[in-house]
Amino acid sequence: MRVLVINSGSSSLKYQVRDTTTDEVQANGLIERIGEGNGGPLDHGAAMDLVATELEGVLARRPLDAVGHRVVHGGERFSEPVLINNEITRAIERLNPLAPLHNPANVLGIRAITAKWPELPQVAVFDTAFHRTLPEHAWRYAIPDSLYRKYGIRRYGFHGTSHEFVTGRAAQLLGIPVSEFNAVVAHLGNGVSLTAVQSGASIDTSMGFTPLEGLVMGTRSGDLDPSILVFLQRQGMSADEIDKLLNRDSGLKALAGDNDMRAIVDAAQSGDQRAAMALAVTSYRLAKYIGGYHVAVGGAQAIVFTAGIGENSSAFRQLVADRLGALGISLDSDANKVRSKQARVISAPDSAIPVLVVPTDEEAAIAEATLKVIQAVPR
Ligand code: AMP
Repeated sequence: MRVLVINSGSSSLKYQVRDTTTDEVQANGLIERIGEGNGGPLDHGAAMDLVATELEGVLARRPLDAVGHRVVHGGERFSEPVLINNEITRAIERLNPLAPLHNPANVLGIRAITAKWPELPQVAVFDTAFHRTLPEHAWRYAIPDSLYRKYGIRRYGFHGTSHEFVTGRAAQLLGIPVSEFNAVVAHLGNGVSLTAVQSGASIDTSMGFTPLEGLVMGTRSGDLDPSILVFLQRQGMSADEIDKLLNRDSGLKALAGDNDMRAIVDAAQSGDQRAAMALAVTSYRLAKYIGGYHVAVGGAQAIVFTAGIGENSSAFRQLVADRLGALGISLDSDANKVRSKQARVISAPDSAIPVLVVPTDEEAAIAEATLKVIQAVPR
């Protein structure tokens, strides 16, 4: 099958055409500056026209069979990918308040495809869906229930498509049926999240009501005392200023003055104290969470690293592993330094728990999920 994978943002649209039989990427691209004037496409419809023009050559040989959309928030309703119709589109739209930057853009992407290729089946793949198996004791905040009922304030979790894909590949690599697999999966990219996987299902994850909770990220603070927000508001900061502070100006960027892990590791190795402290704060918090999730899953059979930092930064992986000695974990320093696009084991043979690097591929996962939904539809 030939699937167009769409990741639609408020002012950008990323796409890939994939052959699900050969797993080949047949085209990909990025349309930027949507609706920003100065020559960019007017709206998502115009952006889709550009995609269609760019794909003319590819599609002349063989048309598309389906479209798979990355949709950020599936709320409490969506626990798996679904075939899109008008009712589903409206349901995604009703979740706009929970993901004000993302869901409206996802809906614009869906409507632009519907207008352009009305006959083409479309599937929504939700970033929250894998975490719908969180038990209530993991998703509840200790605040009045009225806030949950009125506003849906609870923990949802994100990066689900990546966590699910990586869990499947890791189980495969170890020869364990995924339904019997317990693991701690660390998605370390610009956004960072950790998932506790028990019997192949997510039972806890570090991002919560929004992707701000949890670990230290490129520009996001992760966990902090919520009173800090109230304190800052009393100092005269507005809600928008606090939002920007915690989402864009915090994390590694605030600690080290840079949010690129390569630059931070280089700086720390040349004696920069701020960079060294940024690495210490980040690896310490991550190791603390890994220890907690090892307990949560009843003993992990693997610790798995993925995404930009997890796949590429041997130095950061080593810093985290050095803090996990109490779990009997140790890396094979040569295996850890190997650079590869393949899933692999990087722990020492006598490590109590295997440590893996498994490259993530959200587009491949979305294409696979789309294929599954389309095949299940009676024709
Ligand atoms: P992602 O969001 O998964 O694309 O990850 C992006 C992050 O991965 C960047 O901010 C970098 O910090 C990090 N990264 C990418 N390549 C490398 C590398 N070779 N070494 C260390 N960090 C890397």
